[in-house]
Amino acid sequence: MRRVSEEEHRRRLELYKRGYSDAKIAEILNLNQSTITRWRKANKLPPNHRRNGLDEETLQKFLKLYKQNLTDEEIAEIMGRRPCTIKLWRARYKLPKIKICPICGSRFKVEYRYKGGKRRYCDRCARIVYNLHTEIYFLMKSIRRDYAEIAKINPKKAQLLAYQMAEEEGANFMRFVLDGIYEKVTENLQKQKIK
Ligand SMILES: [Zn+2]
Repeated sequence: MRRVSEEEHRRRLELYKRGYSDAKIAEILNLNQSTITRWRKANKLPPNHRRNGLDEETLQKFLKLYKQNLTDEEIAEIMGRRPCTIKLWRARYKLPKIKICPICGSRFKVEYRYKGGKRRYCDRCARIVYNLHTEIYFLMKSIRRDYAEIAKINPKKAQLLAYQMAEEEGANFMRFVLDGIYEKVTENLQKQKIK
């Protein structure tokens, strides 16, 4: 084996310590892979295997950013890669996706049981939104029930009430109340006219 200068040895060793494979070191130094392999074996160094196509340095940088709860897009931006590449790396190490809650801005992990990352809010906000939807649902149901009851007894009074409510709460609100019961109400009004 040809003797390698001290400087060349240091250069190779530095790349080796970064976790680069023989092929990668050879590529960087513009040498044949076999040259590096022989040099490595002569120095009794075990081979660096590429881990899922990620060299050690890149992997560590990625993991460090991921541990700071950065999203794929943010990591991609910092590392100068595409978000889909980061997504692939995450999948290889079974790391859940990081999302930013659009309500409170906190970062949360989308565990794998939520396939496709469909969760929109963090746990706390998801619970609040769920409760709110439930409350609105029951509130609207009861408002519609009461309104339909009045419309049945006195359709004209119901119509006046609708205008009044639209004035106070907004036309959209009233449309929302009438949505679903509107047909029933107009049906009653028509019946009243026929009488
Ligand atoms: Zn939240």
